[in-house]
Amino acid sequence: MARYTGPVCRLCRREGLKLYLKGARCDGPKCPITQRTPAKNFPPGQHGQRRTRRPSEFGLQLREKQKVRRFYGVMEGQFRKHFHEAERKGGVTGDNLLQILESRLDNVVYRMGFADSRKQARQLVRHGHFMVNGRKTNIPSFLVRAADVVSVRPESRKREYFSTIGDVLQSKRAPEWLSVDANQLSGKVLSLPVRDQIEIPPFNEALIVEHYSR
Ligand code: SF4
Repeated sequence: MARYTGPVCRLCRREGLKLYLKGARCDGPKCPITQRTPAKNFPPGQHGQRRTRRPSEFGLQLREKQKVRRFYGVMEGQFRKHFHEAERKGGVTGDNLLQILESRLDNVVYRMGFADSRKQARQLVRHGHFMVNGRKTNIPSFLVRAADVVSVRPESRKREYFSTIGDVLQSKRAPEWLSVDANQLSGKVLSLPVRDQIEIPPFNEALIVEHYSR
């Protein structure tokens, strides 16, 4: 299963905003996007510091798509698949797309607080530590539905990582569309999130719809 394995801060620098790909470190002083000295706060690469030309309409749409794709840690093929699903659903395609991305199991595990970043959540899911409705599920792109229960597998609870996760869960706040039981190491999807309930950087999903509708 393909995934990006290169330096992740580079992705934020390319997009010029914080995509929160490194967990707790993103709020620390070493984040190149927020460093006081602008030493690293410019696009990566040999020509990153050159004055950039005004981006074309296509360029703007492409960058917006890349931002959202990288924020959720999804590769191009999978992202396109999610977009076509969003189109088929009817209603506002951009809102549907964000709802689908939020419903991915790796994102739900991250939002519930079991992991520090989506990347870590993805790895925990891939390693088979989670169940959905009592069944082992190790597919990060699995889409949860309303009333689904996500829990840590009994075999995994003995592991050092999960033996202390209860305290971590208690210190975190899950979004309103999820509920978390820190003692049971489980969480429930109360409903799928609507656009206003999705906490993300200021993305313009309409540009993504235009990008794929070309
Ligand atoms: Fe790196 Fe996190 Fe800052 Fe992005 S937000 S540049 S991943 S430290």
